[in-house]
Amino acid sequence: MKLYVIGIGPGGENEMTLRAVRALEQCDCVAGYGLYLDLIDGLLDGKERIQTGMTREVDRCTAARDAARAGHTVAVISSGDAGVYGMAGLMFEVCQEYPELEIEVIPGITAACSGGAVLGAPLTNDFCVVSLSNLLTPWETIEKRLHAAAQGDFCLCLYNPASKKRTDHLQKACDILLTVRDPKTPCGLVRNIGREGETYQLLTLGELRDTSVDMLTTVFIGNSVTEIISGRLVTPRGYRGV
Ligand code: SAH
Repeated sequence: MKLYVIGIGPGGENEMTLRAVRALEQCDCVAGYGLYLDLIDGLLDGKERIQTGMTREVDRCTAARDAARAGHTVAVISSGDAGVYGMAGLMFEVCQEYPELEIEVIPGITAACSGGAVLGAPLTNDFCVVSLSNLLTPWETIEKRLHAAAQGDFCLCLYNPASKKRTDHLQKACDILLTVRDPKTPCGLVRNIGREGETYQLLTLGELRDTSVDMLTTVFIGNSVTEIISGRLVTPRGYRGV
């Protein structure tokens, strides 16, 4: 019995890998958050849908598991990559008592890569990805990781930078970075990557601190050598110095 966990990339069909499209073709039942199912609606004709709200991840994965046990070939879909703040880990957890279920994880283009491409090449050298959501991780832990990334001069890619309830997390994160990083450090925001209404903005770390963002945005913070080249955000890898 086969269960696919598929990363569909940041947007619609165009952002999917061929492997993800082919795996989806094998499935007769697809589980996912409604917005993501809508994004790939054209590929779901005739397939049963297991659709739940954003915060019902456990229910969705359990329902997908039970559909697979009942004989369906099931896909659980996540935006971006299913292993990056996605459902892949949870799927292994809810299926651990059912060794007859074979799980195949199909990678997708995560927002760090797709958003980085929109901005230019901000993540060419070492970087950290940090989610600013404290729904599942204590805020103190997030702050500790931000301090460590700041100390290590890592470029940063921030997921879940804000939600309706959490509006000051990005400001707090910038304040931590500003303890060691220049306020003029180049940064970028990308919203709705790969979707209708995709926008991006280049700004300094000082400006980013006072900018409000929403949860459809991914934030990029440069390191000490990140620069703007021809209007794009670039972290040189060092080739010019060789
Ligand atoms: N599994 C996803 C991440 C889910 S966490 C991935 O690999 O990309 C949700 C966060 O991801 C959002 O708050 C946002 O910061 C980022 N994100 C995901 N898709 C995005 C998109 N299309 N445009 C901008 N940001 C996106």
